[in-house]
Amino acid sequence: MNRIFFRFFVLVMLSITGATFVIYFAFSRLFGDPLDDIARRQAAAQIFLLEQYVDKAPSDEWLTRLNNVRVVSNVRYDLVPLAEVRAALASGRRAALDRGEIVLDPANRSFWRRVDLEGERYIGSHEEVLHAQNLPIDIDQALKMEALRYVIVAVALLVPIALWSRSHWQGLQALSRVADEFGSGKLTARAQMKPSDTAYPLAERINHMADRIEDLLEAQKSLLHSVSHELRTPIARLEFGLELLDARAKDPDLSKRVKAMEGDLRELNALVGELLDMSKLDSARNLQAAPTELAPLLRECTQMLPPSPHALDCTVADDLGELELDPRLLARAVCNLLRNAQKYATGRILLSASRTANAVEIVVDDDGPGIPVDERDKVFEPFYRLDRSRDRATGGFGLGLSITRKAVALHGGAVRVDSSPLGGARFVITLPA
Ligand code: ADP
Repeated sequence: MNRIFFRFFVLVMLSITGATFVIYFAFSRLFGDPLDDIARRQAAAQIFLLEQYVDKAPSDEWLTRLNNVRVVSNVRYDLVPLAEVRAALASGRRAALDRGEIVLDPANRSFWRRVDLEGERYIGSHEEVLHAQNLPIDIDQALKMEALRYVIVAVALLVPIALWSRSHWQGLQALSRVADEFGSGKLTARAQMKPSDTAYPLAERINHMADRIEDLLEAQKSLLHSVSHELRTPIARLEFGLELLDARAKDPDLSKRVKAMEGDLRELNALVGELLDMSKLDSARNLQAAPTELAPLLRECTQMLPPSPHALDCTVADDLGELELDPRLLARAVCNLLRNAQKYATGRILLSASRTANAVEIVVDDDGPGIPVDERDKVFEPFYRLDRSRDRATGGFGLGLSITRKAVALHGGAVRVDSSPLGGARFVITLPA
C-alpha cells in the first residue's frame, strides 16, 4: 500500500517538474527566453549607455565615446570580427545579431551587438561586433528564486495531497487486514469504520459480502451436520430390521443378501459418523486443549491401528516435550495418516517426530505408490480419492485427510504431502511449539 502512495507522490513531483519545463519552453517560444529578459533588465544601464550615449554620437566620434565609457565603467568592451561571432552563435541569435539587435549571453554575463550595419562609424565598422563583458548580470539569484518558487508550489500541493491520501491509505490498510483475516479462515472478521471515513462505502460492501459468505458456509455446515444426524435414526432402524430379517430368514440366498445389505449399512453408518466428526471440526469450540506429552501420545497411536502385515517403525524422540493440544483430535489426525499408510504401503511404514526451535514435525512415511505432485493439494479436499477403483477395495470415503487437515488447523498447524525417501508418500504435520 505504501508503494502505491509513494508512486503517487513521485508522479506528482514529476508532473510539477514537467509542468515547470513546459511553462519555461512555452514562454521562451512565445515571449522570448525569460532568462534573457531578466539579464536584459539587469544590464539595462549598460544598454542605455550604449544606445543613448555612444550611439547618439556623430558618426566619426562613436569610437571616442566608446573609449570614454570604457574608462569610467567596470564593463569590458571589445571589438571583435563579425564572422567570428556569427560562427559562434546559434541560428536564431545569429539572425538577431544580423538585424543589429543586442544578443545577450546571461551565462557569461555578456552581450554582443554589431557596431553598425552600414559601415558609417569608422572604416569597416559594419564588419565588427561590440562584445560587452563583465556585466552586472546575476542569473544565479533568478534561478534560485525560480527553484524556491517551485519548491513552495510543490510543498503546497503535496501537503494537502498527503493529508487527503493518508485517510484513504489508513482505510485501505484496514480493509486489506480484514481481507487477510477473512482469507485465512477467520470468518467473523469485519471492517470497523465510521460513516465519515472515505473507505466506508467499500467497507460496507466488503462486510456485506463477508456476512453472505459466512451465512452460506454456516448454512452448508449445518445442513451437512443435520442431514448426517438425521440419517442416523433411519440407519439404526434399518440395521435393526435387517437383523430381524436375517434371524428369520430360512432361505440361505436371502440370508446372504441380508448380510450384504448389512455390510452396506455399516459402510453408510461409518460415512455418517465421519461426516459428523468432520462437521464438528469446523468450530474451534470443539477443541479441548490441554498440556500433553507428545511422545507417549504418538506411541499410543501406533497401538490403536488395526493389524497389518506391514512393518511399522516408530522413531519418536523422547524430548519432544509438552504441547498445548487436544490429545483425542491429534491422535485422530495421526491415526488417519497411519491407517492410509497401512492401506497403501507395500512393506514399510515409518512414524517419526522431531522438535525445532518453534515447531514440532510429525512425519509418516510409507513405501507405497505415493501421491503425484499435482494431486497433493487435492487429496486434502473432502471426498477426493485418487483412484476410485483402488479405494473401493481399500474402503475409504476420501474424508480421512480432510479430517486430518481440519484437526491440525484447529491446533494452528498445517499438514502437507511430499515424496518419501522410502519411495511412497510422506505426510508431514507441523505444529507450532
Ligand atoms: P480415504 O479414506 O479414501 O483413504 P483420505 O482422505 O484419507 O481418504 O485420502 C484421500 C486419497 O488420498 C485416498 O483415496 C488415496 O487415493 C490418497 N492417499 C492417501 N494416503 C495415501 C498414501 N499414504 N499413499 C498413497 N495414496 C494415498
